[in-house]
Amino acid sequence: MTERVYNFYAGPATLPLPVLKKAQGELLDFHGTGMSILEISHRSKEYDEVHKKASELLKELMGIPSNYKVLWLQGGASTQFFMVPLNLQQAGKPMEYVHTGAWAKKAIKEAKLYGEVKIVASSEDQKFTYIPKNVDFSQNAAFAHITSNETIGGIEWPEWPKVSSEVPLVCDMSSNFMDKVIDVKKFGLIYAGAQKNLGPAGVTVVIVRDDLINRVPENAPTMLKYKTHAEKDSLYNTCPCFSIYLCELVLEHLKSLGGITAMEKQNRKKAKLLYDIIDKSNGFYKGVAKLESRSLMNITFNLATPELEAKCVDEAKKKGLIGLKGHRDVGGMRASLYNAMSLEGTEVLCKFLKEFQEQNQ
Ligand SMILES: *Cc1c(COP(=O)(O)O)cnc(C)c1O
Repeated sequence: MTERVYNFYAGPATLPLPVLKKAQGELLDFHGTGMSILEISHRSKEYDEVHKKASELLKELMGIPSNYKVLWLQGGASTQFFMVPLNLQQAGKPMEYVHTGAWAKKAIKEAKLYGEVKIVASSEDQKFTYIPKNVDFSQNAAFAHITSNETIGGIEWPEWPKVSSEVPLVCDMSSNFMDKVIDVKKFGLIYAGAQKNLGPAGVTVVIVRDDLINRVPENAPTMLKYKTHAEKDSLYNTCPCFSIYLCELVLEHLKSLGGITAMEKQNRKKAKLLYDIIDKSNGFYKGVAKLESRSLMNITFNLATPELEAKCVDEAKKKGLIGLKGHRDVGGMRASLYNAMSLEGTEVLCKFLKEFQEQNQ
């Protein structure tokens, strides 16, 4: 086997090695069935245990109150961009969004298909390098939508906006799901594609408050109603079993490490190490995000020229540091420090960046 590299890709992203090894170990014979979990029914007793355990662990680790349902859906977070307005729209009430970058933009585009959308705040004036402050959602909004972490720009909400108790706060948490302790009660609905911080591609988690499940218009397609999946515990149709199984393993692993509290501590430490390298580089590395909006998960920065950035990405790759090229839409560099990226991996990256500066300034 070739040696494993340090993987800083933004998603799909690095997974904990113990999880991959466990999945490998039981791939050919899942729990004494003589079959792989890829080959058994989603209604089998063996799979059902995994399915239930995944939801239970998620509820336990995030402290999800009993009046919320956990759903495991398909179609990626991009499908939630239209499922949210389809399910939560209300006649005569605006759907309110904060525009913070590429992902918020896509969510807004889909909501417009369903009715009036109000953009209540935007950071477009400064190329989405910050999270707007004092956002003012109205009292009569059908829902208020934010993107808790903009994966491409590298900005993250430092605290949640105030919303009237009548208005459900909806959040796309795809790229910082479980990166820190949050109070789920503040949200009406949370969604996240798994492939950034929870597991592999192919499954999207939705955490939805019970009272929002029945808002959906009767004539909506069956598969697009949260209600359908809530009533059948995400087993209305064939669920993405293998992806959910891997999420379950990740959650077990997370629990063994001390849960989200321990993760948050480590994530803050990792992000600080890297931002310190950037801040102490005398401008050799320039952070993209404004200080108070910096992401713990996706650290974006620039060098003097695209050529120097390409050289940096190349040399890093030779040292086993992979995936540091920024998103194709914005260029620059990006290191994604998701939960599964170790402190050690972050330290190796920091050391490399320091040396690269010494040799190239
Ligand atoms: C990656 C990402 C998405 C899109 O996820 P898909 O699962 O590919 O549809 C949406 N929102 C955010 C914040 C993301 O990082």
